[in-house]
Amino acid sequence: MILDGKKIAADIRAEIREEVAALVADGKRAPKLAVVIVGNNPASETYVNNKMKACAEVGIEAVKIAYPTEISEQTLLNEVSRLNNDPSIDGFIVQLPLPDHIHESAILSAIDYRKDVDGLTPANVGRTVQGLPSIVSATPRGIRELLARYQIQTEGKHVVVIGRSNIVGKPVALLLMQRPYLSLPGMSAASLGDATVTVCHSKTQDLKAICRTADIIIVAAGSPKLLTADMVKEGATVIDVGINRVDGHLVGDVDFENVAPKAAYITPVPGGVGPMTIVSLLQNTLQAYNEYSR
Ligand code: NAD
Repeated sequence: MILDGKKIAADIRAEIREEVAALVADGKRAPKLAVVIVGNNPASETYVNNKMKACAEVGIEAVKIAYPTEISEQTLLNEVSRLNNDPSIDGFIVQLPLPDHIHESAILSAIDYRKDVDGLTPANVGRTVQGLPSIVSATPRGIRELLARYQIQTEGKHVVVIGRSNIVGKPVALLLMQRPYLSLPGMSAASLGDATVTVCHSKTQDLKAICRTADIIIVAAGSPKLLTADMVKEGATVIDVGINRVDGHLVGDVDFENVAPKAAYITPVPGGVGPMTIVSLLQNTLQAYNEYSR
């Protein structure tokens, strides 16, 4: 069965639109997101425009703050501080990557975790590790939501995560191994978590043998056709996070054609995890508004 991220994301957008409309009808202000973009990286421009559009569709206000590539780290830190203290802004993101002369970690660390709707600050990550209320980064949140909406239980299951990045591999592993008491508002299944998680990476030996024992495989490596049919046990769930361009086409990290017949559930690329990632940003903005701003 195909896990239709596009459809689920549309369902969630409709739910958010309804919630925001109800707030406004109630005389409250709409949630507001600020997006800071530095320089003119075309990919970043596209991502930011998509995020702005997604906000507009659900009634979340969004403001784009653009700076030239030459901006100093200090000026950007001042902007972060201004946004941290602006009560009309519920959440903000600083689009990555930043130019080489700016230390990403310095910028991320300066963001107030209550407004960190990308969930990338050390404070939010640390809070998630300790099971404290936190904002979870977009892709892991989207994956968890997708599993929840299809009622794919993770309790006691063996989950293999391929990739150990800070934005996908590590946080998704953490979310799925956690006791499920850390349920986010709006999560449809509080039962997600409690999995036995193995995290694999480029130095892992015998990836195939490990994957063959997995009930759920999450691939976030950025390597086309990394996961082949002989690595997947019959009836497994396969979540493909990869985004690669091959011969002008967008493909994931999974050999979809051959893996799909073996898998009980599988995400396509495009139309799987990608749409869930954008909708997670909207959910996180609403969460920041509901939990910290009002
Ligand atoms: P990254 O590029 O920072 O790191 C890749 C990880 O995969 C590393 O930890 C590496 O050790 C591991 N890896 C690479 N090749 C491997 C191999 N052959 N065997 C085992 N492990 C291997 O990771 P990232 O930023 O998480 O991105 C991964 C992929 O996911 C990319 O294609 C990226 O474009 C995509 N992505 C998609 C979304 C989405 O919304 N769908 C969001 C974020 C990232």
